[in-house]
Parts: sequence; structure tokens; C-alpha cells
Amino acid sequence: MAFKCGRTRSHGGVQVKHINNFIAGEMVPAQSGAYLANIEPATGTAYSEVADSDAADVGTAVNAARAAFPAWSQTTAAVRSRRLLSIAQGIENRLEEFARAESIDTGKPISLARNLDIPRAIQNFRFFATAILHTQSAAHVTDGAALNYTLRHPVGVAGLITPWNLPLYLLSWKIAPALATGNTAIAKPSELTPMTAGLLAEVCQETELPPGVLNIVHGTGAKVGTAITAHPQVACISFTGGTVTGKRVAQSAAPHFKKVSLELGGKNPTIVFKSADLASAVPGAARAAFANQGQVCLCGSRIFVQASIYEEFTERLVASVQKIRIGDPLDESTQHGALVSHAQFEKTMSYVQLAKDEGGELLYGGQPCPTINDRCQNGFFFPPTLITGLPADCRVNQEEIFGPIATLTPFSNEAEVVDAANGTPYGLSASVWTQDLGQAQRVSAGLECGTVWVNCWLTRDLRVPFGGVKASGVGREGGAEALRFFTESKNVCIAMSDSS
Ligand code: NAD
Repeated sequence: MAFKCGRTRSHGGVQVKHINNFIAGEMVPAQSGAYLANIEPATGTAYSEVADSDAADVGTAVNAARAAFPAWSQTTAAVRSRRLLSIAQGIENRLEEFARAESIDTGKPISLARNLDIPRAIQNFRFFATAILHTQSAAHVTDGAALNYTLRHPVGVAGLITPWNLPLYLLSWKIAPALATGNTAIAKPSELTPMTAGLLAEVCQETELPPGVLNIVHGTGAKVGTAITAHPQVACISFTGGTVTGKRVAQSAAPHFKKVSLELGGKNPTIVFKSADLASAVPGAARAAFANQGQVCLCGSRIFVQASIYEEFTERLVASVQKIRIGDPLDESTQHGALVSHAQFEKTMSYVQLAKDEGGELLYGGQPCPTINDRCQNGFFFPPTLITGLPADCRVNQEEIFGPIATLTPFSNEAEVVDAANGTPYGLSASVWTQDLGQAQRVSAGLECGTVWVNCWLTRDLRVPFGGVKASGVGREGGAEALRFFTESKNVCIAMSDSS
């Protein structure tokens, strides 16, 4: 793979790719010169190194973003729109390269990266590039005495921090609205999956995005993430990641009164009623539980099934999950690849043991996969795993695992299942499977979460609000919500002239 965002260097006779920072339009190493090893999950070996930056690099990036802000914030929406559309086109021109990088970096099947992650990142840029051409602002007439109108200004330098599960997709979900509304930005991708952010930096250079408008600083959360959230000149923080980290981000940003959006963890219910069309509910529940090896914040890891169809549904679900093809992420036919890291693999294993300790019964999976092929013999492969017989309030049913483990629990009626579904600290999303429209509406209204899918999962419309309640976050992204987050409103009140 051609890789321009960093140089390659020889390390023990092996050419190691370097992923460097993107600051003021240039690819630069961390000022300390340090790098972190970047591990390929499918092989368990380092295949590149990423800049191990710190507060000094963040400081330089903030200076670049501040220097770029006056000109960028004053460009017309039409100009910013064209810039973002060229970034979208630049990614699309290299779609295969992006998809391969995402698959190698995360362990996700290449078909998923090619058909979902990268196209959705492209759509994010296109959506916000065109959304800013169609905004409206409010006006209020005050009883003939004054005319008020609302202006929206960019916030300033935006800090954008993202996790490893959907690297380019989530990064673009923040970069696109931040830049579209006239902010400049410091983005920090996860240190576990920096590759496509490196390629995005190349696209920004190729498309001649003005220097400093987007800066990408690589490294750990402890050094780079904290430096961004605590920097007094970073005006707002849009963070996606775990709930524990989210608390730290909120604490660090609060003394500066920064605008903060927190998209955090989930423990989402999939609810299957007896009226459901099982031909779609069974594959729907399987996909919701195990897409991206169960590493999507929206994954339905608690499957509740109405008692009268529990047995039939369970049999059909196990049969469907057995057919999921586990394999080398770079193999076109693979549907289930590797977990992102050894830590994630160990965490998943530990929850299988915990489920057994808590009295659960393994229906399927639960053991590390046998060797996939020679290349993948040290990879972090764990199969889709189904567990039953656990109470709703046990740890396995309460804590976010973020791996390929789902539990099955029977229920008898609507009130009971809504109660159980709401009975965790989280509140991100839910999917409900029923043919009864009234039931769909009642249950959706009763669920404590930011998104309910009925008879579908992960269906996406970029205009809808996205986010969570309770420990799943604060604030909303998507459509007008994102445009509002990255701008400050200002009311202008003009007295109407007195004609007397
Ligand atoms: P994480 O919280 O460990 O890391 C997320 C990002 O924050 C990374 O870039 C990391 O380097 C950085 N970070 C770590 N410590 C930091 C600190 N103290 N200050 C600032 N930044 C810091 O999360 P992860 O393991 O990368 O991702 C998995 C989590 O993300 C899961 O909990 C998942 O549910 C959540 N997630 C949520 C959504 C959503 O939209 N709600 C989407 C995807 C993932």
C-alpha cells in the first residue's frame, strides 16, 4: 500500500510504516520523535507505527487551528461546501485503499469496510457539505417594537476525539459538521486504529484544504486526549468513546465551560414479540448482536424474547448464527473477523467465564476460534456467543462488553420487558420486532434511549438526531443537531423606528 502520510523505516530488516501527525497542512512526527506500535488484530503483530504525541504537539496544532480560523470562518458556505465535497470525492477515488486499511487496522471484514464504513464516511462529508447550503435562521417580531433575528457563528477550534470501532466513519461524522459550519479542528483518532485518519490527511493535502483547518494529532488518550480537552483555546469537545472516559472528558472540559457532546457506551436491548415476523427478526437480531464482531455501540447484546416463541426463536437464532462465516478479515467471504486488540479478546473471554459463574448456559460459541489460517494464527478471533439463563440484573446483563456476546432472556408481557430493557445504567438504542403497530408505538415511547428501531436495526438517515440518555451520553449529533452543536447562536434585536 502506498503510504504518504508517514515515511517507512527499516526496523530489524522489516519496513515499518510511520503514521505521522497532520498539522498546519504538513505531515510531521511527534516532537518527541516517539512512536507507538500499531498491531494488526488478525495477525497480532505490529505492521505500522503511529506518532506518540503529547501536549506539545497538541499546542502546535491548536496554534495552527487558531491561525486558520479567521479566514476559514469567513469563507462562504459555498466555498466550504466545495472543499468538503472534494474531500468526499478524494476518499471515494481511493475507496479500495481506505477499505483495506480499515480492515487491516480494525480486524473487521473487508466487505464491511468497503460497503459500510467508508461509504458512510463519504456520505457524512457530502451530507454536511450540502446541508450548510440550506440552513435557515429564526426571526421574531416583538409586538411592533423590535425585530429579532438569530445569527449562528462557528464556535472556534473544535476538539474531536473518536474510538476504534468505526474509525473513519466516526471521525468524519465530527469533522464534516465542524468544518462545514466554519470551525477549525484538532482531531484525535484512537491510537489503536490510526490508518484511515492518516489517509484522510493525505486526501486533505491532495485537495488543498487550507493549512490548519483540520489538524490530526495521533497518540494516547492519556497524553493527547487530555491535552485537547484541557486546552483553554479548544472551545468545544465532541467525544465518542467509553462511559468512563466520557466522565474524565467532562471533568476536564468543565472548568473551561466548553461545549461538550458525549456519545458513550451502550447495553442495548433487542425485543422480539410473539407477533414478530421471525423471517426478518431472527437475522435482524443476529446482525444487531454480532455486526463488527459485536463492537458497535448500538449492538443489541440483550435479546428479550416473548415466552410463547422463545424456544422456536432461540433454535432459529442459533441456526442463523452458526452460519456466520468467521475468517481472515481480508478474505472476501468473511462475515466475522478479529476483535480489535488482545485486551478486547481477554475482556470478552472474561465475560464468558463470568456468565458461567453467574449461572448462565452457553448456547453457542464461548471458546476462542481455532486457527483461521497461517497468517492469522496469532490473531484475536472470538466467535459469536449466545448465552441464556441469566437474570436481567447480573453483571453480564448490566455491563457493556463490546464484544460478540449476547444473552437471551424470555419475557411475558410489554410492561415487564420495558422495565427490564430500561434496567441498566445505559440508554443508547433499542430494536423492537413486532407486527403490532400499537405495540411498536407503546414500547418505543416507554424505552429510555436515544434511538428505537422497529423491525430494523442500524437503518440510517443523516437528518435524524443521534445520541443517548443516562450513562450513554449527553447531547445529540446528526443533521441539524450537529450544525447547532458546532455553532453559537446570537440574537440581534433591532428597535423598529418610531414614526411619530
Ligand atoms: P475509549 O473511551 O477508551 O477511547 C475513545 C477515545 O478517547 C480514544 O481516542 C482514546 O484515545 C481517547 N481517550 C482515552 N482516554 C482519554 C482521556 N482521559 N481524555 C480524552 N480522551 C481520551 O473508548 P474505545 O475503547 O476507543 O471505544 C469503545 C467505546 O466507545 C465503547 O464504550 C463504545 O460503546 C463507545 N462508542 C460509542 C459510540 C456512540 O455513538 N455512543 C460509538 C462508538 C463507540
